[in-house]
Amino acid sequence: MSGTLNNASLKTGRSFDLGKMNLRQLWIAYLTYPTILLYFALVVVSVAAAAHFFAGWGATLVSIVAVILVYPLAWYLLHRYVLHGRLLYKMKWTSALWKRIHFDHHQDPHLLDVLFGSPATTLPTIAIITLPIGYLIGGWGAAATAFGTGVTITCIYEFFHCIQHLNYKPRAPWIQRMKARHVLHHFHDEDGNFGITSFLVDRIFGSYYRDAKARPRSPTVFNLGYDVKEANTYPWVMDLTGSPPRDRPDGARAPAGKTPDSARHAA
Ligand SMILES: [Zn+2]
Ligand SMILES: [Zn+2]
Ligand SMILES: [Zn+2]
Repeated sequence: MSGTLNNASLKTGRSFDLGKMNLRQLWIAYLTYPTILLYFALVVVSVAAAAHFFAGWGATLVSIVAVILVYPLAWYLLHRYVLHGRLLYKMKWTSALWKRIHFDHHQDPHLLDVLFGSPATTLPTIAIITLPIGYLIGGWGAAATAFGTGVTITCIYEFFHCIQHLNYKPRAPWIQRMKARHVLHHFHDEDGNFGITSFLVDRIFGSYYRDAKARPRSPTVFNLGYDVKEANTYPWVMDLTGSPPRDRPDGARAPAGKTPDSARHAA
């Protein structure tokens, strides 16, 4: 029955598959997902800490605005230079991390389990970015505000990121544009459009592109450069996957009569 999620047809393996879900099902999956519930709980704790060590309204507001401004830049730099850097899979001790936090998402962009960041990596990252900003602005109270703001923005990013991989066309034109740019990052050329909700930083750094005509298609768009040749030199990610890296996600090899993934997204 639609509306409930007790439905194996919404899943691929153990994970919800956004290619098979509608917006209502996504909302239910999102609002009951353990990682998201953990984030909500941490926002509540941050608000309580910000009230307890209250830094004054001025410092509180300034720390919120500072995090809103810094966050897209921090995410951009991490996404472009760390997640799409070619370093993490070349070292055994970081290969599992890289596989979990980005390779698996590009191999199959619809799987909810690997679309959401893992809290073990997102939360320390959010803390390292936000706590010093808040603390310098107004001590521990403002640091709690900054951290809570960072976690809130992460929840918003994760939701829009789900929407970008959900098999539907958003009604609002600005969400359609946002979705189209991210779909290009996944299905046309991964070396651009690194933003999630805003592509302002991409425009500033020259990595923004509007449509598929702007660039040739990248042969490494699904494997991020970790192809079979690289996997033979640096086997750890392949060992963890249990199979060689793929040049297309499963959904893209749809049987005849079904729309390939990239075509579904091109609309
Ligand atoms: Zn994505
Ligand atoms: Zn998709
Ligand atoms: Zn990416």
